[in-house]
Amino acid sequence: MTQFLTGHGCFQTYLLPRSTRVESSECLSCGDPEDDAEHTFFRCGRWAGKLRELEATVGEDVTPETVISIMLSSRGKWAAVDRYVKEIMITKQEEEFQRHTNAV
Ligand SMILES: [Zn+2]
Repeated sequence: MTQFLTGHGCFQTYLLPRSTRVESSECLSCGDPEDDAEHTFFRCGRWAGKLRELEATVGEDVTPETVISIMLSSRGKWAAVDRYVKEIMITKQEEEFQRHTNAV
């Protein structure tokens, strides 16, 4: 988790091993051809509602540029961002699992 804070590059590296396991790089949620960490957590229309909730919780806009400083500003905000990221990753992993079991 310390790696997470050292910059946006590391932010993506931290999240990428999971998303790269998906065969297609296209976002399965909204069809956007660029399904990377940045797309998922900051741009995907599917999670826009959750992102708005997160922004309401932390009281500022959450973008790749601001997320690190938001997380460092308080324990509560750290927890809110952490929860947001984990919730999406768990949902995506479950869907990936189901996709694989359905395909067989
Ligand atoms: Zn998307």
